[in-house]
Amino acid sequence: MPIYEFKCTTCHAEFETIVASSAKTEGVKCTQCGSSDISRILSTVNSKIKRTGSLPMAAPSTGCRSKSGFS
Ligand SMILES: [Zn+2]
Repeated sequence: MPIYEFKCTTCHAEFETIVASSAKTEGVKCTQCGSSDISRILSTVNSKIKRTGSLPMAAPSTGCRSKSGFS
């Protein structure tokens, strides 16, 4: 089941709750103050994963091509 992040608009506490579906988030209450006045944080799970070292580095292909012209 998906885990959704919520933020309480009363005490501004952020918490995660497993819900059966996105349509059943009405019964979710704040874990801090128990208030039902919460808002769902729309953030995907993949955005929390830090991709370290996966950035495509710019390959110096243009530099090599200029040398292999006339030799
Ligand atoms: Zn709260």
